[in-house]
Amino acid sequence: MIKKIDHIAVAVKDVEKAAEFYEKVLGLELGGIEEVEGMDVKVGFIPIGDTRIELVQPLDPKSGVAKFIEKRGEGIHHICYEVDNVKEALETYKERGAILIDETPRKGAHNSLVGFIHPKSTGGVLTELTEHLEES
Ligand code: ZN
Repeated sequence: MIKKIDHIAVAVKDVEKAAEFYEKVLGLELGGIEEVEGMDVKVGFIPIGDTRIELVQPLDPKSGVAKFIEKRGEGIHHICYEVDNVKEALETYKERGAILIDETPRKGAHNSLVGFIHPKSTGGVLTELTEHLEES
């Protein structure tokens, strides 16, 4: 059901500033920056082969990512797996004991559906599932 690691998200205070390490030190390229509606975050995408690093900057101090940084500092925020069908995956993992943050999929960046699994049931790793929708 899981196809690959879609991205690893890193919580940062400033996308452009954080991207400097990836560009100047690692020699990677920032592929683009997008503000994700409804999630109050600004995301910088750094493609690496078939997957990518996402630098996630909170735009609202009350958002989950802002609270994460406040509590734990900047660092890895979540891992995202690509699946064929987020709705089915959420249902299956729930049956297998996962505690869901999203009972149903919601809209993510880049024309995708996403759903989150609570770190309480994953060994401390906030886990995201994503499904890429066809461009219409
Ligand atoms: Zn993500």
